Amino acid sequence: MDLTRTAFYLDGQWVTPAATDTIPVENPTTEQLLGTVPAGTTGDVDQAVAAARTAFDSWAATDPADRAAALDRLHAALATRTDEIARTVALELGTPLKVATRIQAGLPLAVLRGFVELAAEPPAGQVIGNSLVVREPVGVVGAITPWNYPLHQMMAKLAPALAAGCTVVLKPSELTPLVAYLLFDAIDEAGLPPGVVNLVTGTGPVVGEAIAAHPDVDLVSFTGSTTTGRRISHLAADRIARVALELGGKSANLILDDADLATAVKVGVGNAFLNSGQTCTAWTRMLVHRSRYDEAVTLAARAADGYRLGDPFDPATRLGPLVSATQQHRVCEHITQGLADGARLVSGGPEAALPERGHFVAPTVLADVDPDSPLAQEEIFGPVLAVIPFDDDDHAVTIANNSRYGLAGAVWSGDDNRALAIARRMRTGAVDINGAPFNPLAPFGGYKQSGIGRELGSFGLEEFLQTKAIQR
Ligand code: NAD
Repeated sequence: MDLTRTAFYLDGQWVTPAATDTIPVENPTTEQLLGTVPAGTTGDVDQAVAAARTAFDSWAATDPADRAAALDRLHAALATRTDEIARTVALELGTPLKVATRIQAGLPLAVLRGFVELAAEPPAGQVIGNSLVVREPVGVVGAITPWNYPLHQMMAKLAPALAAGCTVVLKPSELTPLVAYLLFDAIDEAGLPPGVVNLVTGTGPVVGEAIAAHPDVDLVSFTGSTTTGRRISHLAADRIARVALELGGKSANLILDDADLATAVKVGVGNAFLNSGQTCTAWTRMLVHRSRYDEAVTLAARAADGYRLGDPFDPATRLGPLVSATQQHRVCEHITQGLADGARLVSGGPEAALPERGHFVAPTVLADVDPDSPLAQEEIFGPVLAVIPFDDDDHAVTIANNSRYGLAGAVWSGDDNRALAIARRMRTGAVDINGAPFNPLAPFGGYKQSGIGRELGSFGLEEFLQTKAIQR
């Protein structure tokens, strides 16, 4: 199977670049080549930004109902590709097909549906004294996205940007660029005006930096690692361009003494291991009241032992590989270091059996983890869960907040008010109580080094708007 793509999407057309450099895309399960995509240059970025700049005035002035209709057509074009999207993500990332269908393909469609509605009714202006305050699109958006939920992360930027009246240049991750091509096939079919959305594939240091540093990009919307986010902030700061950053996390799952322990641990392990632990909001630190700690460790180990590793296309598989050999090695080093630092292995680990090929890491549970150790402080981005005991609610909050990240978290308790009080004290952008479902319309983003700004729903739309006061 050769999934090679040879063009960029520029100014409403597929354009084959002059340069012939390509980037290989690997299947992390088989370690075989899936195909290649073009490696963009700064010249390609210039062309894409110029197209987005030219298209901006007309798209910004388009009636909101017409922009909503265009997004609705995109939704229809993508919905017909659901199976192909799920299969492509299973191939290039390794997400088990069932999860890929539900989340990797399903979530972006739900997000887009929400923005079809928001596009039709953008935030109204208001009158303050002698001022008419109006909201206007921020301009040309540079969107740079990672590989772990590739289509969702593109959609979380593209849909609100288009709904707000912005135009976009998108650079997907070079590890999972193939699903971006399906998105642009759908954009082409939906007939969005030329230049409104443009695709340039390539590496971070070349195409990513060219977008972040481009004088004609008004907002850089980035999802990825905190290290890259810092670099993008520096590049954008030189011209005082806006940034929206969705970065890493090290989220805590607080299980109080009055919680339904069996459910809290089972759901907690599932959350930590979702997408092989390659989830920025993953509850990677399980904090358990000391009176129930031993029981929780046993339950977590048993749950982890039940996760079957394997081919994403095998219906029995619950965990696929990690995205790359680099990630696999990073995660294994973290586990080895954690054990050397005194953590107790209760499931998985370096000696566990693995499929013969592929970038697999066994689902691993480590108990008695020191809250200050690298295992509890660093974002590992693999199926590794650290279990930590606490003495009382204050102690739990202190450990939870002992992180430079602040993306998400969870609280489990039989007492809703007690859980709510703790949720309010956690310095994170989101907290789930007793396994409440994900809400694609709720604001999503981080405190501290987890980011700046919010994505999704009406708060996500705000990121792409400017505010103007007209005095009369
Ligand atoms: P990454 O930072 O390496 O790459 C993300 C994107 O940035 C890619 O497209 C990459 O090519 C590009 N990039 C890399 N270097 C660049 C540079 N110097 N200038 C401009 N662009 C550059 O991150 P990753 O490894 O793809 O993704 C994993 C990370 O993303 C994890 O840390 C995870 O927590 C984070 N993440 C955060 C969220 C969130 O919403 N907060 C969501 C998903 C992933």
